[in-house]
Amino acid sequence: MSTARRPIQPGEVFERLTVIGQADPKLRKKNGHKIYCVSCRCSCGGETVVEENKLRCGNTKSCGCLAREQGSQWKGTHGHRSRTQYSRTYNCWSGMKQRCYNPKTKEFRLYGARGITVCERWMASFENFLADMGEVPAGLSLDRIRSEGNYEPGNCRWADWDTQERNRGSFNRRVVIKGINLTVAEASRELGISGSCIGNRAKRLGVSYQEATNFYAVNGPGAPWRNKRAAREQGSALNRTGV
Ligand SMILES: [Zn+2]
Repeated sequence: MSTARRPIQPGEVFERLTVIGQADPKLRKKNGHKIYCVSCRCSCGGETVVEENKLRCGNTKSCGCLAREQGSQWKGTHGHRSRTQYSRTYNCWSGMKQRCYNPKTKEFRLYGARGITVCERWMASFENFLADMGEVPAGLSLDRIRSEGNYEPGNCRWADWDTQERNRGSFNRRVVIKGINLTVAEASRELGISGSCIGNRAKRLGVSYQEATNFYAVNGPGAPWRNKRAAREQGSALNRTGV
């Protein structure tokens, strides 16, 4: 019995595609092996080049018109999920559940570990969440109004990053620049640095928020990180002189 490849012949029909003839083979990137291809005419009138094995196994059935007609991009019942893709709104819903109930996620310690929960209605289905919240507007994300409250109707909104950060505990901390009392968010804006710089610096170097603020006040935005001791010394020196 011969194991030679039997090429697909012109005239063979696979669903909507009728083979017209051989096409140039593609080369597999990994090993340079040939991937045999044929050009086909589709019953919709379109033409396309398809890998032979994808025709044989039934993976490719049309020039793409079939998928378009079926609207297969978002299959599921609510139209926000397909086999490989999720809508942003769906990701917001799923991310919320992960933060509250999956200890393996990075953000769990700020949510689930602090007792933040998702209401039963939203845990039950994405449809419920969608019905209450609507689709996420571009550029916004899911935010809790009271930062100690849970994910539930009445305590959630679509908010921009600024609103969310202002709402978060650490951004409401107050620091002093040139004798003016500001929130960390306001101070960041004043200093021309990103809203997370001061908090990150304080946490990573183990210095106070005021010390971290002093560092940027003196060294300007984009100042290189110093080692912990240098940062401490500098921060306390500044505290004594009262920047
Ligand atoms: Zn077609």
